[in-house]
Amino acid sequence: MQKPNKRLQGQICIVTGSSSGIGKAVAMAMGTEGANIVVNYHSGKEKAEEVAHWIIKNSSCGDAIVIKCDVSKEDEVKQMFEKTIKEFGTVDVCVANAGIQIDHPLHEMPFDAWKKVIDINLTGQFLCARESIKEFLRRGMREEVSKSLGKIIHMSSVHEVIPWAGHANYAASKGGLVMLMQSICQEYGPKKIRCNSIAPGAIKTEINKDVWSTKEGREGMLGLIPYKRIGIPEDIGSVASWLASDESEYINGTTIYVDGGMTCYPGFTTNG
Ligand code: NAD
Repeated sequence: MQKPNKRLQGQICIVTGSSSGIGKAVAMAMGTEGANIVVNYHSGKEKAEEVAHWIIKNSSCGDAIVIKCDVSKEDEVKQMFEKTIKEFGTVDVCVANAGIQIDHPLHEMPFDAWKKVIDINLTGQFLCARESIKEFLRRGMREEVSKSLGKIIHMSSVHEVIPWAGHANYAASKGGLVMLMQSICQEYGPKKIRCNSIAPGAIKTEINKDVWSTKEGREGMLGLIPYKRIGIPEDIGSVASWLASDESEYINGTTIYVDGGMTCYPGFTTNG
C-alpha cells in the first residue's frame, strides 16, 4: 500500500458554512492537505465557488465541489450527504462549522432568536454528525486513507465554558456541543470514530466584525487575550487539518482551545 504524501490525501471532507471566515480557512487548509472538499454554503454561491476554485487550483491532488444546504433542515442535510456520496463515494471527515449569533438581553430575547441559534448551532451540528456516523458505519474502514473509521470536528467556542451575558442563546448552543461531542465519543469510539471540538477565541470574521472594526472594540478584545493578538481564520484552519489527520489519532472526545489564552481568565492578571 502506497503511503499518501499529504496528511488528508484521498479523504473526503464536508465543511459546513465554508464560503466565509473560519469554515473557508478550514476548507482551504484541508484542500492543500490533499482532501476532496465539499464547500457547503447557505447563502452566497459565488463566494463558495471562489473557495472551491481556489482549492482546485492550489491542491496538487484534491478536488472541490459546492453544495447549498441549510444545516438546520433535516432533509437538506440528508441531501448534502447523498450528493457528496454520489460525487466522491463517501465522507471521511465532517467539520460542523456553520454558526450564527443573534444577540439580545435575555429578558428581551425573542423566541425566534433563541430557536434560530439553537437550530443552526446545535441541531445543525447534530444532524451533520448523525449523517456522518451513518455513512462511516455503512462503508467501513478505509485503511488506505486513515486509521479511523471517520472524524467529526465540531466548531464550538470558548463560550462552551465562558458564560456570555447578552448572548445566552449562543453560549447555550456551544455548551450543548460539549455533551453532544463527548457523548458521540463515548458511543462511537469503539467503532474507531473520532469526535472532537475546536473552541476558537476571538477570530477576525464577519460574525464579530462590529467589534474588531473599531479601535475601542479591538482594544476590548485584546484585553481578553493573554497572547495580545486577535486570531485569524488560518489559526483554526491549521489546527482543524491536523485534528482530522492521523497525526492526532489518539485525540478523542476533547475540545482544543485555539484562543491565545482567553480561557485563562486574563482579568485576574493583576490580582483580580
Ligand atoms: P462567519 O459568519 O464568517 O461564518 C459562519 C458561516 O456559517 C457563514 O458562511 C454562513 O453563511 C454559514 N451559515 C449560517 N447559517 C447557516 C445555515 N443555516 N446553514 C449553513 N450554513 C450557515 O463566522 P465565523 O466566525 O467564521 O463562524 C464560524 C464558526 O466559528 C461558528 O460556529 C462560530 O460560532 C464559531 N466561532 C467563531 C468565533 C470568532 O471569533 N469568529 C469564535 C468562536 C467560535
